[in-house]
Amino acid sequence: MTANPRGDTYMAKLYDVSMPIHADMPVYKGRDENRPRLTVIRDFSKGAWETSLTLYMHTGTHVDAPFHFIPEGERIDSLTLEQMIRPCRVLDMTAVRDRITPAELQDKDIQAGEFVLLKTRNSFTEGFDPNYVFLDVAGAQYLLERKVQGVGIDALSIERGQSGHPTHRLLLAAKIVIIEGLRLAEVPEGDYLMLAVPLAIIGAEAAPSRVVLVKGRLEV
Ligand SMILES: [Zn+2]
Repeated sequence: MTANPRGDTYMAKLYDVSMPIHADMPVYKGRDENRPRLTVIRDFSKGAWETSLTLYMHTGTHVDAPFHFIPEGERIDSLTLEQMIRPCRVLDMTAVRDRITPAELQDKDIQAGEFVLLKTRNSFTEGFDPNYVFLDVAGAQYLLERKVQGVGIDALSIERGQSGHPTHRLLLAAKIVIIEGLRLAEVPEGDYLMLAVPLAIIGAEAAPSRVVLVKGRLEV
């Protein structure tokens, strides 16, 4: 049970599995243009504090829509609430050193319609690790054949060093939603309710999301 500030108790445990957004956060390949920029537009001398945020869509925890790689694919604003507020399953892949292949997924009994989150050793690394664990194209093909509806991973990209980005292309062409930049260190393998709605930025290929996993009952 978790108490909120008002003193109510939830019959649920809440896990924030998102990256905090700040100027020095880890970004993909350490690229400067990927760093968020928070600019103060007005300060208290003008009556109120107001800021503007410049944020690369693939910085921090975010959702990739099909349009990221598929020119005629759906944009981020057409993902439905039902697609992004739903059950999911965290799969423990922390023993994997390099890449997730069908061999690592085979004994997980993945069912059609599942949204799987891949928890790897990446969740235990601070900063950007250029050798992050990723889902290779054969692993993506395996998940596609199992008919999953979505895949999340604790890396800023779901793939690494695969020419032509076949993991992204395969999943997004099949309308399988991708979540990147998760932080799953505290979350045991198992089933959760996932809240992962991206900002509805019209026409964008991706958008940031504050992703929360819920274990137990959540109701009012
Ligand atoms: Zn992305």
